[in-house]
Amino acid sequence: ESMKIGWNFDNSFSRLPRLFFRKIDLNPVSSPQLVILNYPLAKSLGLNADALKSNDGISILSGNKTIEDGAFIAQAYAGHQFGNFTILGDGRALLIGEQITPLGERFDIQLKGSGRTPYSRGGDGRAALGPMLREYIISESMYALGIPTTRSLAVVKTGEPVIRRTLEQGAILTRVASSHVRFGTFQYVSQYGNLDELKELADYCIKRHYPHVKDDENKYINFLNEVIKAHASLVAKWQSVGFIHGVMNTDNMTISGETIDYGPCAFMDNYNSNTAFSSIDVNGRYAYKNQPIMAEWNLCRFAEALLPLLHENRDEAIKIGQNAISNFYDIYYSNWIAIMRSKLGIFDKESQDKAIIEDLLNMMEKYNEDFTNTFLALTFNKNLDNDMFKSTEFDNWYKVWQERLSRQSQSKESIEQLMKNSNPAVIPRNHRVEEALKAANEGDYNTMMNLLDAISRPYDHSDDQEKYSELPKPSSCPYKTYC
Ligand code: AMP
Ligand code: MG
Ligand code: MG
Repeated sequence: ESMKIGWNFDNSFSRLPRLFFRKIDLNPVSSPQLVILNYPLAKSLGLNADALKSNDGISILSGNKTIEDGAFIAQAYAGHQFGNFTILGDGRALLIGEQITPLGERFDIQLKGSGRTPYSRGGDGRAALGPMLREYIISESMYALGIPTTRSLAVVKTGEPVIRRTLEQGAILTRVASSHVRFGTFQYVSQYGNLDELKELADYCIKRHYPHVKDDENKYINFLNEVIKAHASLVAKWQSVGFIHGVMNTDNMTISGETIDYGPCAFMDNYNSNTAFSSIDVNGRYAYKNQPIMAEWNLCRFAEALLPLLHENRDEAIKIGQNAISNFYDIYYSNWIAIMRSKLGIFDKESQDKAIIEDLLNMMEKYNEDFTNTFLALTFNKNLDNDMFKSTEFDNWYKVWQERLSRQSQSKESIEQLMKNSNPAVIPRNHRVEEALKAANEGDYNTMMNLLDAISRPYDHSDDQEKYSELPKPSSCPYKTYC
């Protein structure tokens, strides 16, 4: 009767010193119900989706049952939250194991919303259905957009209420990550651990994420450089689709360079570089335009935690760290301009490209025009019926851009193809996400399934995708997100 789910665990994090985690007892829930399961992801993990849908599978996805060979730990970490150092840890998450896939890759399988842990502080350890589905939708959208991210395997309803701004339905998300080690994990060991433990964590991350540096003479410096590169590339990708993370605290920055923690994040509609959606980000610390700066700031905190490994002399170590960090902006910029060039169909490099890109962004900001749809209109050579497209300023810009395109050897067709591949037809727009979540909260999952289908093929420019580029109705209050 009971089908094999296909767990294939090797729990490497559990072999680290006890400082880094606590064993967790289950906090069972009363009547778990599967809301959504990610079939392609299950398959790539080597898991049998039908077995995951069985009672046995749902018991595991809701934290009601342990698995032989499972890890069942909560991880310790610290973090700068809006600039303030805090001791944190998985307050509502449980690592059930590290799945080795049929291709030999390693992924953390983590339940989020699975109940209190020793790191819960004042929290209830639980999560609400809306936010967990929101994480599912946006993380899967990021994946489809080609942006490094944690992924979502399943959401179950717990059958128990959780108290938030209102009473909500409880839910548990199964999150999949190439690991959950964060900048904050290093800050934690730097606060409480000794040099050996710091070394162990660094060696662990090198082996798991950057194995090509493991035999380097300066492996810890190169490890720092790799993490800098990963985040420079990640943030450039965020900027290129108008993604605003919303809570770039150091505990939400992975060593792997995957986007994590889809609490208050959202995509911009109209381009405004000051956009910050999070209700708690009152000063705009994590606003769109600040994301590269905050990534760099976070990398500084990571480098500080690594200092003892960079050089035995602290002053030398600081110099090495500063030198590594000083490369961040250039790496970020070269990633950013490469993506922006391709969004405009530019294959080669000219020094005026930066101005062409910035002039366009400034126009979008001035005329309050939609980021995604502007690039789509340019891709398909459509004239939008809006103030920006009607302006002389735009006409002039357009001429400069067209002249720029004609100076390269590529054909019109290959330019259009590059732009199609670089400009998504579909992003998870806030009003579409809200609409899907509202229906899901009422037990109707169709809207969400349709949205998921659309966002899972963002570069498919066929007509049936068009309804997802419709803009929200003008609203008197700006969109706000909550943790
Ligand atoms: P975040 O702001 O989502 O990065 O979370 C920061 C910290 O708060 C992490 O240590 C979380 O585990 C913890 N946390 C968030 N929500 C809860 C909750 N409902 N119960 C317990 N801990 C929580
Ligand atoms: Mg977090
Ligand atoms: Mg969160």
